[in-house]
Amino acid sequence: MSEIIDGKKISAQIKDEVKEKVAAYAKEGIEITLAVVLVGNDPASAVYVNNKKKACEYTGIKSLSYELPEETTEEELLELIEKLNADDKVNGILVQLPLPKAIDEQKILDAISPLKDVDGFHPQNVGALSIGKKGYVSCTPFGIIELLKRSGVEITGKNAVIIGRSNIVGKPMAMLMLRENATVTVTHSKTVDLKNVTNKADILIVAIGKPKMITAEYVKDGAVVIDVGIHRMDNGKLCGDVDYEAVAPKCSLITPVPGGVGPMTIAMLMQNCVNSVEIIKAAK
Ligand code: NDP
Repeated sequence: MSEIIDGKKISAQIKDEVKEKVAAYAKEGIEITLAVVLVGNDPASAVYVNNKKKACEYTGIKSLSYELPEETTEEELLELIEKLNADDKVNGILVQLPLPKAIDEQKILDAISPLKDVDGFHPQNVGALSIGKKGYVSCTPFGIIELLKRSGVEITGKNAVIIGRSNIVGKPMAMLMLRENATVTVTHSKTVDLKNVTNKADILIVAIGKPKMITAEYVKDGAVVIDVGIHRMDNGKLCGDVDYEAVAPKCSLITPVPGGVGPMTIAMLMQNCVNSVEIIKAAK
């Protein structure tokens, strides 16, 4: 039977470490500020933004809130981002996704200064990650690396298989695992015989967006399984992309849903806010 990788506990440790660093910076007269931009009335986005603000409060990071109406135009949003880019008091800018359909999401993400891109979505930060330069790393994959390391998982030399190639999870995950010296395979919807590939994984990272798709026959005995997926089932409970009950007995370590990868994303956002101090200083 597997052991659980406790994302709640590890994310709490990281937030406490961030809190200490924020307090140390405060002693030097440095305040860290995150600007959080929410456009429209999506209830899930409102919950995410609220959780991010709460994490800021806990860690001592100042948060500035910009809640804009659904009818906000692309020009108006770009204007706000320009203002925040130019504001020396703002360290990080976070635009909650998804944006209303009338706004070009990529255009907005590209407009955020790479020096304040605490979500790690700007092409410059994506490029920096792939060539091993310093920069912001997308929070969810960054959090998964922390989960693995803090659970004592040796990554070097291991076969890591990632299911999913999205820009926010799969691709940066692959780059990070490569940076940690894993032998990396990225799979997707066109992969032929997925089970055959995943059965070679020492570390299997699942980011498909399909509830409980990964059953026991996809998983090698003793593998470490990281489940990024998050879904609300008809009974109101949450589940992941992995069929937890079926897979857990087969692997050595597994992340539950909820309480696995989910809490790490916000913790790493807080970590990126702290990292902003050095990133901005290095660019001056
Ligand atoms: P996307 O929908 O952007 O990407 C899904 C990926 O899965 C695609 O690359 C797709 O392939 C691949 N895929 C789909 N079907 C199959 C299949 N049958 N076999 C193999 N691969 C397949 O999702 P995200 O990466 O944004 O998110 C994935 C999951 O993680 C979602 O459940 C999301 O809610 C969750 N999530 C959780 C976060 C957290 O904080 N816990 C943060 C971000 C996401 P192709 O490219 O060919 O279409």
